[in-house]
Amino acid sequence: MIPYALSKNSMPVGIQDVPRGLACNCICPACSAPLIARKGKRKSHHFAHYRQPECTNALESSLHLMAKAVLKRSTKIVLPPIYLHGRERAVEYARLYQYGSVRAEAYLQGMVPDLILETPDNKVLVEIAVSHSSRSDKIWKLQQARLAAIEIDVLDLHLELAGMGKGGDLCAFSEAIIQGIRHKKWLFNPKQHALEYQCRERSDRKKVKHKQFDGRHHHIVESCPEGKRFRRSGPREGCSYANVFSDCLHCSYCFEIEYAKKHVGYRQIATQPAYVYCLGHK
Ligand code: SF4
Ligand SMILES: [Zn+2]
Repeated sequence: MIPYALSKNSMPVGIQDVPRGLACNCICPACSAPLIARKGKRKSHHFAHYRQPECTNALESSLHLMAKAVLKRSTKIVLPPIYLHGRERAVEYARLYQYGSVRAEAYLQGMVPDLILETPDNKVLVEIAVSHSSRSDKIWKLQQARLAAIEIDVLDLHLELAGMGKGGDLCAFSEAIIQGIRHKKWLFNPKQHALEYQCRERSDRKKVKHKQFDGRHHHIVESCPEGKRFRRSGPREGCSYANVFSDCLHCSYCFEIEYAKKHVGYRQIATQPAYVYCLGHK
C-alpha cells in the first residue's frame, strides 16, 4: 500500500488531497508508473499501481519524499531529548528548533545528509531512515565534523500510524514528523559529546580483571568506593572490589563500561569488559 504519491507537477500528495481512481493524476515516487487512488469502504485509503504489480521501493520512497516535503514546508521541528551514555534522565529535554532555511541533499564536509535545517548561526542535519538506520561510518564523520544530526525513522512512524488507522493521513504524519519525538534520535550531538567527555575525564578508569574462582569466570574491578564486596582472605584481605556485571552494571556511579573489541570481517564486535568508568570517588 502506497500512502503518499507524486502529483503530475512532482509535489508529494496524500490520499485525502486527490480524487478517487485515475483522476488523481499521480505517479509512483519510486518507478514513476501511473497510480490510482483507492478510496473504498473496506480498506484504508491508499495509492496503487495502475494495472501492474507494486514495485519494490514504493512505500519507502513515498515515506522518504513526504517526510522531506513536510520539513521543507515547515520552519520548526521538535528535537529529541539528550541523554548521556547509559543514563535515564535527560540532560536536555526535547526542545523546539526554529529554522530559517532548508537545504536538501547538499554536500557538507564529506557528507550528503537528506536535509540541513539552518539558522544564521546553527545547523541540524536530518537523516530520514526508511529501511536501515545510519551506518557507523556516517556517525564517525558527524563526530569528526562536530555536526548535530538527528535520524527520523519514518517507516516505524508510518507503521505506528497505520496501526491507529491513520496510514495515509498526511496531517497525522506531518504532526508526528514535526512535533513527535518517539521516532527521532540523535546520531550525534556536540553537547552530549562534550558532557560525556567531561564525565569520562572526571571518572576513575578501572581496569577489569578476569578471574576464575568457584568454578566460574568473574570480571572484577578493585577498590570499589561503594564497598560492594570485600576480600575474605589472601594478601588483599579486607580490600573492596566489585563484580562488573552484578554490581557496576546496576550502580549509579558507573558512567560506562568499555568493552574490548575484535574485528570479524569488516565489523567490530565487543567481546568482554575491559574498563569501568567509575564516578564513585567523586
Ligand atoms: S561503578 Fe559502582 S560498583 Fe563499580 S566500582 Fe564504581 S562504585 Fe563500585
Ligand atoms: Zn512504483
